[in-house]
Amino acid sequence: MPSGPAASGPSARHMTRRAVIRYGSREVAVGAGAPVVVQSMTNTDTADAIGTAIQVKELARAGSELVRITVNTPEAAAAVPSIREQLDRMGVDVPLVGDFHYNGHTLLKDFPECAQALSKYRINPGNVGKGAKRDTQFAQMIEAACRHDKPVRIGVNWGSLDQELLARIMDENSARAQPWSSQAVMYEALVTSAVENARRAEELGLAADRIILSCKVSGVQDLIAVYRELARRCDYPLHLGLTEAGMGSKGIVASTAAMGVLLQEGIGDTIRVSLTPEPGGDRTREVIVAQEILQTMGLRKFSPMVIACPGCGRTTSTVFQELADSIQTYLREQMPVWKLAYPGVEEMNVAVMGCIVNGPGESKHANIGISLPGTGEAPAAPVFVDGQKAVTLRGASIAQEFQDIVLNYVKTRYGS
Ligand code: SF4
Repeated sequence: MPSGPAASGPSARHMTRRAVIRYGSREVAVGAGAPVVVQSMTNTDTADAIGTAIQVKELARAGSELVRITVNTPEAAAAVPSIREQLDRMGVDVPLVGDFHYNGHTLLKDFPECAQALSKYRINPGNVGKGAKRDTQFAQMIEAACRHDKPVRIGVNWGSLDQELLARIMDENSARAQPWSSQAVMYEALVTSAVENARRAEELGLAADRIILSCKVSGVQDLIAVYRELARRCDYPLHLGLTEAGMGSKGIVASTAAMGVLLQEGIGDTIRVSLTPEPGGDRTREVIVAQEILQTMGLRKFSPMVIACPGCGRTTSTVFQELADSIQTYLREQMPVWKLAYPGVEEMNVAVMGCIVNGPGESKHANIGISLPGTGEAPAAPVFVDGQKAVTLRGASIAQEFQDIVLNYVKTRYGS
């Protein structure tokens, strides 16, 4: 008997070791088939302990499972234990990751309380020192990780690629009978930098399951090519991210395009969406986008999804956009409490549709759906619950009444 079109889904995950990042009783597993972890990074001055603790709390509340902070100066390193204490006082147990460049070997040695308060170190092998100092300073950072029992991300970035390694790979390339393109040489340098430094960290005593790798570039096709090769060449867990993705829709689209392809191929154990916020913009947007990438791909569930039609000439009022926006915001704001009180609520779908054309049909597919009246339709909005028409709303308070119906559904369906 014909089986019909095959269902689509991500390929089997690229099998890696598992690294665990700990803070107190909180454990975040990365790799070996664990759910893909969402992380983010603050943009406050880390020396401002209060401002940084507040932003870490906001990112964690939005759903960031790891939060990275830059540790770039003695003042920043001195502030890290205070940031951790303030988070503890606020009941925020998200693990903190320290981002080190240039002086990490010194800061980790001079500020042992900082080294201890962090749950993981990010080391950029292109920025640990030049010439003879490079190996010594890299070793000092790995020794600090071993001493404090912390995992490390060896994070290569093509904006700060190890120039000596690049020169070596270019020399090797020019000796080839048929030299590679400059693009292939760059990819090779990025992947080699990550893998060689990971092996070196192991030789220095860091356990293989304490190492995570990343190779960030800013081009979509470059990221896909580099991570395919990285996944082929090692079994360390991989952190995915398009570096310098940019602002607004460009940053979201580029990150989604690149990471979507890799995640579909089973590559990537943790992700960050590196969005440039608009001036005064909300830093938590990068967390929400990362969650939406994973949830829309069917890899994880974080929050009820709102299915809304785009609207068209059949619905010329703004009522439908306002309702879709208000219910999406309402659902997201409730999640920190709901995910504890109503397990499984993140799987709920809510449809907000603009007219009769697809409204009732789409609403019946959702857990709860509302089909608003389009232009010229009777001013009535049927609400469907689990595929059945439950009630018809009318008048000025449709938004509040619909929200009440959603809340009742959540309590009834997901309450214990
Ligand atoms: S459901 Fe109606 S309003 Fe929405 S896009 Fe379709 S035809 Fe337009």
